[in-house]
Amino acid sequence: MSDYDVIVVGAGNGGLGAAVTLSRKGLKTLLLERHTVPGGSATTFCRGRFEFEVALHQLSGIGTPDNRGPLWNSLKKLDVLDDLEFIEMKDLNRIVIPGVLDITLSTDLSSVMEELGERFPREKDAVSRFFKLVYSYAFELYSYFTNPAAGADAVPLVKRYAFKTAQQVLDEFFEDPVLKAVFGAYWGFLGLTPNRLPFSYLAILFFSFIEMKPCHIMGGSQALSNALVNKFISHGGTVRFNCAVNRILVKNGSVAGVETGEGDEITARYVVSNASKVSTYVELLDREHVPDEFLKEMSIKTPSPSGFCVYLGLDCEPEEIGITAATNTVMNSADLSDNQYNRMRALDFDADTDMAGFSCYDVADSRFSSEGACQVSLLTLKYADPWLRLPPTRYYAEKYRCADAMLTLMEKVCPGVRDHIEEVEVATPLTFMRYLATPYGSVYGFNQYAKDSLFMEHSRETPVEGLVLAGGWITDCGFETTIKSGISAAGTIMRSLGAER
Ligand SMILES: Cc1cc2nc3c(=O)[nH]c(=O)nc-3n(C[C@H](O)[C@H](O)[C@H](O)COP(=O)(O)OP(=O)(O)OC[C@H]3O[C@@H](n4cnc5c(N)ncnc54)[C@H](O)[C@@H]3O)c2cc1C
Repeated sequence: MSDYDVIVVGAGNGGLGAAVTLSRKGLKTLLLERHTVPGGSATTFCRGRFEFEVALHQLSGIGTPDNRGPLWNSLKKLDVLDDLEFIEMKDLNRIVIPGVLDITLSTDLSSVMEELGERFPREKDAVSRFFKLVYSYAFELYSYFTNPAAGADAVPLVKRYAFKTAQQVLDEFFEDPVLKAVFGAYWGFLGLTPNRLPFSYLAILFFSFIEMKPCHIMGGSQALSNALVNKFISHGGTVRFNCAVNRILVKNGSVAGVETGEGDEITARYVVSNASKVSTYVELLDREHVPDEFLKEMSIKTPSPSGFCVYLGLDCEPEEIGITAATNTVMNSADLSDNQYNRMRALDFDADTDMAGFSCYDVADSRFSSEGACQVSLLTLKYADPWLRLPPTRYYAEKYRCADAMLTLMEKVCPGVRDHIEEVEVATPLTFMRYLATPYGSVYGFNQYAKDSLFMEHSRETPVEGLVLAGGWITDCGFETTIKSGISAAGTIMRSLGAER
């Protein structure tokens, strides 16, 4: 007789989605999390009077009251909607190339087309044709996934564009590099520059944010993680924080339980791993239980970049320093080619060539900070390698040098921001490695090149019976998809139990 029906390793979105679903179905479930709080990336932390959001810049999939989205439906299934308040953002993105462009795209399709048509009059028709493609493509994709048996001929646009990069499609439609940069600027949320990013990802992002509106969560993503963990406990689930899993135990080819960092062996019939696929196969399972073909799958994929973040608590209202949109991208030029891609591999941040995004949730709702204050989260994508090679004695100097350079970039849009800093915290790729335990501090799972994209199913099969995966390493990254992956992982277990019975 096992101690538990299911042990869930990791309380990120995927782990929480699985744990709540399983406990709700009456399975005796244990959730083990190495950190002291639930959420993984979906957490907040406090400095002074500010509660800073770690990850969430824009939440997709909530939808509007008359058009509810996939994430809303997932959260309804998990029964946590009553515990959460969603704040709809009014703008998609403010994109600034100092001296060249300062445009704020709204979340309404006709307004976006008007805003772009005014700024780029010669390409007005191309803009409208591009959005027509984005919408038709998204609808076809939906029909492809709901009815794959209809085959590729039923979805001609999907067939034509599925494996094209975002850059190829932008080049097909537009002349002006600045206009292409406006569309391509969202690559910072997707991890690959437009010349490597599948068009599908850009199309779905625009479709989803315009049709279902980007949101934030009052109380930050920690409010969501807390609501899920509380729901899990209310269904009789047991959770242990500060409790890393060191090994997943296997007996006769089937999962048998886990061994914790404290050396406890806990038995279970099923294990859901929300740790990365890489950690699960390379660190948590003994090598003899992982056939070569499972490792081979990982050797052809690459981890997405990590992040470099500067979290600012400011003693002013956003408009006092020129912050007018909740989501902002600042670029030095319209060049989004390999130059930007290669800069992710450099240790330093160059305020005159690099780009960064920043979010100020207080623009969407002033309750995010106390009166007369606001908070900003500045993000640029960086790989961990140069940070891992850095001698520890130089770590702090480099960390603050990069943060200082990111502030210099932000000053191009928000002059005087430095005079208002009350709190500042900085996260490097090493910080993400420490808190997320992902390979190289990767923040978006595996890179999603066209060959690994939507049409090449991420393998969910595991080498050990009873071991199921959940989270951003078996699906596309983001809150919407990772929560869904947890619900699906629980479904796999319920189906297996049903079959047994
Ligand atoms: C800076 C940043 C910005 C982002 N911006 C957005 C955004 O705007 N919109 C969006 O939708 N998404 C965004 N994302 C992506 C999104 O946050 C992630 O895709 C998602 O949260 C990942 O969920 P996950 O289920 O993979 O779990 P993770 O968040 O990776 O959590 C995994 C959990 O497992 C725990 N764990 C790992 N190993 C063990 C072990 N051995 N034992 C016990 N516990 C273990 C970890 O401590 C962690 O809590 C962002 C991410 C980051 C970091």
